[in-house]
Amino acid sequence: MTKREVELLAVGAGPSNLGLAVALEELAPDVAENTLLIDRNPTIEWQPGMLLPWAKSQVAFVKDLVTLRNPRSRFSFLSHLHATGRLDDFINMGELTPYRLEIAEYLRWVANSLRKVRYELGCDCVSIMPQRDAAGTLTGWLTTLADGTSISSRYLVIGTGRDPHIPQVFADIPGHRIVHSTQYRPRVAGLSKEMPYRVALVGSSQSSAEMFRALREDLPDCDVAWVMRAISLTADQSSKFTNQFYYPSFVDDFYASPSEARERMLREMYKTNYSCVTPAMLETLYTELYLDRLGQRNDRRLITMVDITAAREVADELVLELTDRRTGAVTQLHRDMVFLGTGFSWETPRLVRRLTDAIGLDQVQVTRAYQLILDEPSTAACYLQGINEATHGIGDSLLSVLAHRAQDIAFDIIAHRAGPQNRAHGGADLPAEAYALGRQSS
Ligand SMILES: Cc1cc2nc3c(=O)[nH]c(=O)nc-3n(C[C@H](O)[C@H](O)[C@H](O)COP(=O)(O)OP(=O)(O)OC[C@H]3O[C@@H](n4cnc5c(N)ncnc54)[C@H](O)[C@@H]3O)c2cc1C
Repeated sequence: MTKREVELLAVGAGPSNLGLAVALEELAPDVAENTLLIDRNPTIEWQPGMLLPWAKSQVAFVKDLVTLRNPRSRFSFLSHLHATGRLDDFINMGELTPYRLEIAEYLRWVANSLRKVRYELGCDCVSIMPQRDAAGTLTGWLTTLADGTSISSRYLVIGTGRDPHIPQVFADIPGHRIVHSTQYRPRVAGLSKEMPYRVALVGSSQSSAEMFRALREDLPDCDVAWVMRAISLTADQSSKFTNQFYYPSFVDDFYASPSEARERMLREMYKTNYSCVTPAMLETLYTELYLDRLGQRNDRRLITMVDITAAREVADELVLELTDRRTGAVTQLHRDMVFLGTGFSWETPRLVRRLTDAIGLDQVQVTRAYQLILDEPSTAACYLQGINEATHGIGDSLLSVLAHRAQDIAFDIIAHRAGPQNRAHGGADLPAEAYALGRQSS
């Protein structure tokens, strides 16, 4: 089987690693020359399962892959609009937030505009193993793809997002009856539009709200019971004040805080990003349901304050057991399919967990510069993108911080390559000298 070698392998070609590719081209061109970016998808997309035609990004266009770090970059969203002849139209819209489809196009344009970093699609990474020399020093990583080929690298950056969260109660339900939001578009495309499916939609998040809205058009004859633990849908608690905690400059404060303080801050910020819906979407949904009632249509309803305490397939249907959180009363809901807007698992993603198990790490921790903390001698380094909310703050999984994060990683790699005296040894914080070294070379 083919085995290749690159200096840096970036797994996952989503915004995080595309932002890194841009940072390497601009700040570390010699690293960029020998960097390969891979993704399992056949095309570059942005959250393709939920790439709905009317869905918009929730952050301003300036929070693209680079502008907050380098407003003069040729890789900005505005450069993309200019290069593709869409700048006038975008400005004339008078909106700060682009459609998600536009962001996906922008990501493809960035990938095709890279001059040094190479990317390959249709590369499903199935395992990553540490490589050690005869003395036992960790010298690199061996990444194996689904087609059996492998790639070894000294540097590895994992930006594969989090694993979808499927609540335990659905563990025994056959896969064809369950659609997680990450699979919404391809799975719905495979269903018959005419079938009067009975659907349970689960969760009270933005993704659930978007599926509720999309199902009206995608499966017009279906009957939807939207089931949630919450008493009601609620608007996100964002404000100009809370948004300050999404600034890249807040990461230092957050990282430096004791772990109890970090947990407290994340708890307080939770409803700015999770289990909530944008005010604009709430308006749309309420209006649609209002018009349903006006037209005596009752095939869409909300069932609030219930726990789904059991789920099983009986004959040709699903039976969900709903336990009312106010009274404890148990009722049954008979459905054909379940759509899950249940978000993502907080656990370390399986791919990363298998790697850290193979290294022999008890816990998965990264430095301020996102470098995986290894408890052993090593001449290699691995970085984790987008899964460090617990140590780097609420913005970590979003577009908000990724341009700066890419710079942090690029500088850390520059410092690491320059020799042991410049390394963040034993996983300590990124030293000021590393930054200086990185900045000199930029
Ligand atoms: C529906 C939805 C809407 C969102 N909207 C916003 C928003 O408006 N604003 C915002 O800031 N954030 C938003 N987010 C958060 C989102 O996580 C970030 O915007 C961003 O996509 C994170 O980028 P990423 O590269 O870290 O991860 P992802 O975008 O998840 O990209 C990961 C990439 O890794 C690839 N991959 C995964 N596993 C493998 C593997 N084993 N082998 C090879 N490739 C693999 C995937 O195919 C994917 O391309 C949204 C998230 C969702 C789910």
